[in-house]
Amino acid sequence: MSHLLFFLLLLPTSSRASCNASPSRLDLAYSQCDKMHSATLPKDIARALGDLQREGFCATPDQQRATAAPLKAICAEPGKFICSNKTGLFFNSQCQLELVESKDIGELASYKNEECAFDQEKADFIQKHRAECGSAWSGKDCEDHLKVIYAADILKMERLHFYTPERVARVKAYFDRAKQKFIDLITASSLVPEYQKPLLLSRIQGTELFLDPNADKTPECMNAGLNPPGSEFYNDISRSIVVVCLGVMANLERTNPQSLLLTMAHELSHSIDPCVLEATEMMALHPDPGLGKKTYPGLLQCLRGGRGTDGCQSSILNCNSPKGIADAIVEFENKAIKDNPLQFANSPDRDQLEHDLAFEMNATPDCSHGKSDQNTESMNAADFRKDPEPVEQIGESFADFMGAEIAGRIAAEDAARGTFNAKDGMDALVATAASFAQLHGGCRQENTHDEHPIGILRINRDIMSNQNYREAMGCMNGPPVSKGAGTTCKGL
Ligand SMILES: [Zn+2]
Repeated sequence: MSHLLFFLLLLPTSSRASCNASPSRLDLAYSQCDKMHSATLPKDIARALGDLQREGFCATPDQQRATAAPLKAICAEPGKFICSNKTGLFFNSQCQLELVESKDIGELASYKNEECAFDQEKADFIQKHRAECGSAWSGKDCEDHLKVIYAADILKMERLHFYTPERVARVKAYFDRAKQKFIDLITASSLVPEYQKPLLLSRIQGTELFLDPNADKTPECMNAGLNPPGSEFYNDISRSIVVVCLGVMANLERTNPQSLLLTMAHELSHSIDPCVLEATEMMALHPDPGLGKKTYPGLLQCLRGGRGTDGCQSSILNCNSPKGIADAIVEFENKAIKDNPLQFANSPDRDQLEHDLAFEMNATPDCSHGKSDQNTESMNAADFRKDPEPVEQIGESFADFMGAEIAGRIAAEDAARGTFNAKDGMDALVATAASFAQLHGGCRQENTHDEHPIGILRINRDIMSNQNYREAMGCMNGPPVSKGAGTTCKGL
């Protein structure tokens, strides 16, 4: 009797008690930043800032007292301002910091507690269905069997912990607004040729938001029970969906709204980026390899910043190299022969294959062509392509620029309505620059061979070369004058 009582008391409590993760270095930094901004005495503010800096973070100084000075410094060179702290982990005045590394999000107490609650719910669910296995199954076999049968239910259970109705509504609202602004701007554009507008509009209209990550449909998210969770946004062109991975949702409350909007618009832009347009055109009877350039007159050359008709001679952004293209052809050819030895057994067939590959590369000059780099770590957002041959960076730069065009026009609309002020502009710029500075090469000064330019170039050139964005953020003195920047390009 006493044994039974002990058992009954212990069972429910032992499976419930443990969801209270200790705060990580990032959790502590967030709360330290909150403390700094709620402090009133200058010495308390200075002490909190010092504590943050010792931990590898930085933060904009007390905004109430000194709005003008930091705004001037940020506008003059946002990349340098952020990278004065070499990790790029820089809080804005609302203590917002978008985390781009999966491992950082995986350490947040808010993430760990939700995962733990989900684990308990899953255990209870399995327990409830155990009778379905029959008496012949062992406990472990039964559990594995139920996990397979109820995989979709279990996945949904996890999703509901992170894709809460409030977060979903927020992300959807930004996506819809970016999409509508895109449609309005393309329709009214005096730069985009009229004959190209129906294609651009149908591609933007046809791109949907996808908030249902799972291992089959969105393997790039690498979540669905994996720890740490995927922290990406991406546009799956082949399926016309913009996917928001679980890790993004887990830290959504600390993400700046303008920065989120710019990321959404960046992803939408990929649906009509010059590479995608050329890859679609390639299927036509007489494809036009200059379609990317013709659709956005002057823009690609302006962003690349070099000489010649493509802007590729002595350019700021990388273009494909002849050797990189040749390497890619050899790599694809070898792979095709290995996968289909019978199909390519004869040399005329191999010649045809080589010819087709060369045709494809020629028809898509604005796509990144080079052999794949096995050394990059896909789960490390700061990692970058290290192959000796550079690849084209215009697709990503175009998406940054168009993201800024959309986010800038929306911010200007909000400013006219009185819902976006100078401080919001500075916070948006700091948050955006800080998220870029954590990606693909971090705060490096020299460009890498990755298809994304380094963070400093992305913010100082791709984004700040958009006048609408710059001015909406409160930067009225022209583009940053740093190396590689100092230009204004026209988009839509
Ligand atoms: Zn992109």
